[in-house]
Amino acid sequence: VTDTDVTWVTDLRNLVDVNDGESARDQHAADLSFHPPVRPQVVVYPESTSEVAAVLAYADRARIPVIPFGAGTSLEGHVIPISGGITLDMSRLNQIVAIRPQDLTATVQAGVTRLQLESAVGPQGLWFPVDPGADATLGGMAATNASGTTTIRYGGMRSHVLELEAVLPSGRIIRAGTHAIKTSAGYHIGGLLLGSEGTLGVMTELTLRLHPIPDHVAVARVPFPTIEAACFAAGTLIAAGIQLTRCELLDAATIEAVNSHTNAGLSRTPHLVLELSGTEAAVVSELDVVREFVRDDGATGFETVSDPRARTQMWASRHDALMALLALTPRSKAMTMDVAVPISELPAAIERAHCALDATELRGGIIGHVGDGNFHVIVVLDPADATSLAHAKSLNDRIVEDALARRGTCTGEHGIGSGKLQYLEREHPDLLPLYRGIKQLFDPNEIMNPGKVIRLGDAYAPGNVASA
Ligand SMILES: Cc1cc2nc3c(=O)[nH]c(=O)nc-3n(C[C@H](O)[C@H](O)[C@H](O)COP(=O)(O)OP(=O)(O)OC[C@H]3O[C@@H](n4cnc5c(N)ncnc54)[C@H](O)[C@@H]3O)c2cc1C
Repeated sequence: VTDTDVTWVTDLRNLVDVNDGESARDQHAADLSFHPPVRPQVVVYPESTSEVAAVLAYADRARIPVIPFGAGTSLEGHVIPISGGITLDMSRLNQIVAIRPQDLTATVQAGVTRLQLESAVGPQGLWFPVDPGADATLGGMAATNASGTTTIRYGGMRSHVLELEAVLPSGRIIRAGTHAIKTSAGYHIGGLLLGSEGTLGVMTELTLRLHPIPDHVAVARVPFPTIEAACFAAGTLIAAGIQLTRCELLDAATIEAVNSHTNAGLSRTPHLVLELSGTEAAVVSELDVVREFVRDDGATGFETVSDPRARTQMWASRHDALMALLALTPRSKAMTMDVAVPISELPAAIERAHCALDATELRGGIIGHVGDGNFHVIVVLDPADATSLAHAKSLNDRIVEDALARRGTCTGEHGIGSGKLQYLEREHPDLLPLYRGIKQLFDPNEIMNPGKVIRLGDAYAPGNVASA
């Protein structure tokens, strides 16, 4: 479909608010990653589940690709409309439907963001712990099975979505799951939609588990002489059964980038940032145990805070890491590798990744949710520089290969998008026919986010999109 060949835009305008202006299309053409931008023909802004259903039913009949869009913070080209089509922006489905303190649940529309939910439930002594760093939408987080810094204690999105409402490409509205904490009723259809990256349908409403805000929280920042020592210490704490709420690694290069981005003034060595929460007495006594363990594993310092503002400041170095690395090179984009391995394999996997990164001319650093065995080698580059891009891709190949050899995964949390198709195929070759069968069952006309998670079907190869 060419920019001018969009007769269907008129039809869509009868169903939903449509924007086909240059700036809306540009805003929905790219993410922070190195993947090249492609603009959708139009962006639509549904305000209800029935508007989503009307758009999907129309697009399915007309064989027009539809790309659900939350906050656009995903990192593997997930929201880039590689075959053009309609970007379905969920930002107006932003109502908090119900908060149930006695059940520890909330029901939200899928465009509600993580921080919006946090502000709404906080005054009731509750919080939603899944924290991918960015202020993503809960629908986008569900669609990527996001996790983050607190997964070690609370789990990721799959542990938090009890029930969901979704619209299938035919326009049919379904509900999967229940408000009960557990169920054994039938196939786990909700579980298929979670992590499906907009390729099976559009989630419009989610019922989520909440948790009480802990009484007392303490954060410790711990420098180590080497990255291997830091990883080894993380493994020791986990094997000892310490109830960490967060366990994050920043390598020396990332610390240096954070220092120059924010004047943090941290010592230029790898750091672990650890969080403990619970009753004050329990946290204080566990902190003592943690201090002893990390000292035995070679820590060269141990700084702790518990005041909320000081904690936020201490965490800023971790949350700012990606932006600090991007700031190293003007106009750069990120290639964010995202492997996870069994905890026992982590020190060796990170050591190998660290040496491999050092052996290149590439700029970047290593950060990780090391309590989950999950780490990111982040390379910042100019996507137009073919040599750097080729070197970064080859580095990514080697890091994924190593993770798979250690019985790990090519993506701990970011998902497949269009960037990791070949790695998913390498990780699960025996599952590919099942993946294709599931796609066929949910989305027989392949209109939903084509080219993500599994390869493009013939109907949606670039330049081959049918117009209505
Ligand atoms: C600084 C930074 C740090 C990050 N750290 C982490 C991290 O620690 N852990 C982590 O997991 N991720 C992390 N991410 C990645 C990102 O935040 C997550 O992938 C997030 O879950 C995406 O949510 P979103 O609302 O931005 O979705 P989008 O990026 O808009 O969409 C993501 C995918 O979901 C689909 N989608 C969106 N909404 C829906 C819906 N309602 N129904 C069906 N499909 C939908 C889209 O089509 C797309 O395929 C980070 C990103 C940044 C920029």
